[in-house]
Amino acid sequence: MDPGKEALYQALILDHDRSPRHFHVLNPCSHAAEAYNPLCGDRYIIYLNVESGIIRQISFDGHGCAISKASASMMTSMLSGVSIDSALALSKSFKAVLLSNKQTDDELPGDLAALTDVVSAPTRITCALLAWEATCDAIAGF
Ligand code: ZN
Repeated sequence: MDPGKEALYQALILDHDRSPRHFHVLNPCSHAAEAYNPLCGDRYIIYLNVESGIIRQISFDGHGCAISKASASMMTSMLSGVSIDSALALSKSFKAVLLSNKQTDDELPGDLAALTDVVSAPTRITCALLAWEATCDAIAGF
């Protein structure tokens, strides 16, 4: 990766870490999911309001490392207003790109490319996937 792009991606992750989007409790909510990663100590609650198969609202709170928090922040920005099916599909492609460990700027929307390019160690992948997996568990089969 060229150094300019890497710096940009690092800055983007730091920005989400310092100013996370949708970072609040949602009350009332139709779904809440706990996301806990004992390897790193990341712990979040994801809140959702799902209605007619659409994620009307999504937010999170908690604490953890920069990667897990940036990933949760990006996730809530991307999944707000989308259908359950689209959310599950996006989560699946994000996971596939992370696990394949290749650089793929063009395959993922929004800021996710920053995460997939920066995150390569397996322990960091767990951090990056944490919020996504909790959300998928909460909405799968709904
Ligand atoms: Zn972490």
